[in-house]
This record gives sequence, structure tokens and C-alpha cells, in this order.
Amino acid sequence: MLHIILFGPPGAGKGTQAAFLQEKYNLIHLSTGDIFRYHIKNNTELGAKAKAFMDKGQLVPDSLTIELLESEVIKHADAKGFIFDGFPRTSAQAEALDNFLASRNEAISALLSLEVPEAELKSRLAERAKTSGRADDADPKVIENRIAVYRKETEPVKSHYQALGKHIKIDGIGSISEISERLFVAIDAL
Ligand code: ADP
Repeated sequence: MLHIILFGPPGAGKGTQAAFLQEKYNLIHLSTGDIFRYHIKNNTELGAKAKAFMDKGQLVPDSLTIELLESEVIKHADAKGFIFDGFPRTSAQAEALDNFLASRNEAISALLSLEVPEAELKSRLAERAKTSGRADDADPKVIENRIAVYRKETEPVKSHYQALGKHIKIDGIGSISEISERLFVAIDAL
């Protein structure tokens, strides 16, 4: 099975690119951010818990996030593989994911890391705020915090997969189709 982690800071284009990968490789796209937003919209207990963290640009606690992710994977028994978007976001989540997949005799195929400079991220997020309706896109302080949390908590996930020889850098600057093409080339070479 093909298990891809689509990795990168907020605004790197993970969600946009995941849609293309899902279609081309017939994978299930799991975005923890989207799943949390779905729960918030539907006023679930999990949604209420997650919202308090998300609105401040903080991470939702690992225990909640890991449990949620595993339950989503289990739902798709017939999947050909997954695109993990926005997960794992901490070293603990990466270890939990590896162990979970190992328990199913599976493993991550590659982590594809979209590389985008910080100034570009900020301008993309400010642009997205105009249409996304996301509270965490609208406030520059929250954006700063999300990028800071990314550098501190999420970037170590790269080293985790680098050590396993599974980290692939993708230039995240260019047109949407140019970037998809780079991702396709990387996946086809796996
Ligand atoms: P972005 O990549 O633009 O920051 P996401 O939709 O991936 O947006 O995530 C939005 C928010 O949801 C994050 O700032 C965080 O609060 C929460 N979140 C999403 N995925 C995770 C995760 N794996 N662990 C903890 N919190 C998460």
C-alpha cells in the first residue's frame, strides 16, 4: 500500500495538492484539520475540545489527535493507501503512526515535504483568510503562532523520517500544476 505524508508549514499547499494525489493514485485523503473542522461544524464533543486549541493556533493534544486518526484509518478497510495531511505534527504522533501502521503490517512509504519560504506562507494565508472563513487564518498573531508551533513541534517530524530514509523535499514554489507534477515524479520513483 502507498502511505504518503504530505508535509509542510501552514499555507504550504498540502490540502490543494492532496486533492490531486488522491485522484491520481486512488488514495484516501485524511486531513486532521478538516476532520476537526467537521466536528466543530457539527457541534460534537471532540469539536468543542479541538476548537479551543485551534482558535489560538495551538496543537490539539496528541492523545485526542492520534485516537481520531486511527479511527479514521480503520473506517477505510478497502483503501489502497492514505495521504496523511496535517498529521503527524509532533514526534509523538509520528511514532504512534509508525507503530499503528506496523501493527497492520504496513509502513509509511515517504514523507513529501513542501518547501515554501515564510514570507510566501504569510501572504498565502492572508489571501486564504478572505475566503476560508477560518478564524485561525484571519488573525496575523494566530498565523505567527502556527508558524512558530510548526518550527518547534512539527519540523522534528522531518528528521524522524529522514533517519528512516523516507524524507523527500519538494519545491513548493510555482504553479499548482508544476508542484503536482513534482509530487507525481517523486511518488512514481518510490
Ligand atoms: P494548516 O496546515 O493551514 O495549519 P490544518 O487544517 O492542517 O491547517 O490545521 C488547523 C489546526 O488544526 C492546527 O493549527 C491545529 O490546531 C489543529 N490540528 C490539525 N492537525 C493536527 C495534528 N495532527 N495535531 C494537533 N493539532 C492539529
